[in-house]
Amino acid sequence: MKITPTFLGKNIFEIPVSFYQKKGYEVLLFDLDNTLDSYRKKLPSSRASSYITSLKEAGLTVIIVSNNQKRRVKRYAEKIPCPYLFHAGKPSPKKILAYLKKIGADPKKVLLCGDQLLTDVKAGNRGKIDTILLSPLGKEEAPWTKFNRWMEKKRRREIIREGSVPSWEESYEQD
Ligand SMILES: [Mg+2]
Repeated sequence: MKITPTFLGKNIFEIPVSFYQKKGYEVLLFDLDNTLDSYRKKLPSSRASSYITSLKEAGLTVIIVSNNQKRRVKRYAEKIPCPYLFHAGKPSPKKILAYLKKIGADPKKVLLCGDQLLTDVKAGNRGKIDTILLSPLGKEEAPWTKFNRWMEKKRRREIIREGSVPSWEESYEQD
């Protein structure tokens, strides 16, 4: 099956809390690198920090789910603060599903937000979790990401050409 997100978006910060609430999502899984901040940014930007804080204040559970190493993810997430999963192993949904089970979250009320088809969206598809595919924040990429990016280019274009995946705004207005 082809990797397909549930929604498309430009960047995470444009999505209002009312979108998640309207769609019935209670748990948000956020990718870190190039979704919340550049991979070079060791600590959260005030934009990322205040966005996550506002979601938490609205009663949503936000968890940072990153394939990056403990040192990087821990330092970043603890500053916000918010729970996190490092070495998440995306595109495998195994660790994510185990974590959701542990906190008693219903996968139907979970939304995974990330900038990569081959890791974030694929993990969501395999774990039957809704996803939103965002544009990467920066042009700057970690070397290991460049390969994935090249691989996914074709599918990304295809999704946009087909027009079958709604943007979060379209889906928001439809309801
Ligand atoms: Mg990323």
